[in-house]
Amino acid sequence: MEEEKKLPLRKILVVEDNQDSRELVVKILRNKGYQMIEAEDGEQAIEKALAEIPNLILLDISLPKLNGYEVARRLKEIDAFKDVPIIAFTAHAMKGDREKVLIAGFEGYISKPIDVRELPNQIKAYLRGKWESVLGGEQE
Ligand code: MN
Repeated sequence: MEEEKKLPLRKILVVEDNQDSRELVVKILRNKGYQMIEAEDGEQAIEKALAEIPNLILLDISLPKLNGYEVARRLKEIDAFKDVPIIAFTAHAMKGDREKVLIAGFEGYISKPIDVRELPNQIKAYLRGKWESVLGGEQE
């Protein structure tokens, strides 16, 4: 599609210890023209983030070695990541989790299981700076 071809190259780091889930995300987004980088635990996430400086990080919360909260906290201390959206990739859909990830330094979240058709739109919106706000959305 024309519109997708015009997208500048965008590098995305997917951090997910579940291989099937990770590969599905990679496949969908690679088909949309994104350059995909993968990590399967928290330490590898930090190593790859520092080496590649991706444009967006999709970060699972429950990970071996370092959890997603800790990875996000460490990366947000580094200047190069101040403007890189870090999106929580989480199966938790409990009330209050949204606030928890936003307060922890994430710019938003994408729920698992992913919506295969919506994922590219969600990623595109986050790359365009449509970040979640703790104050916006989720009406009582
Ligand atoms: Mn996990």
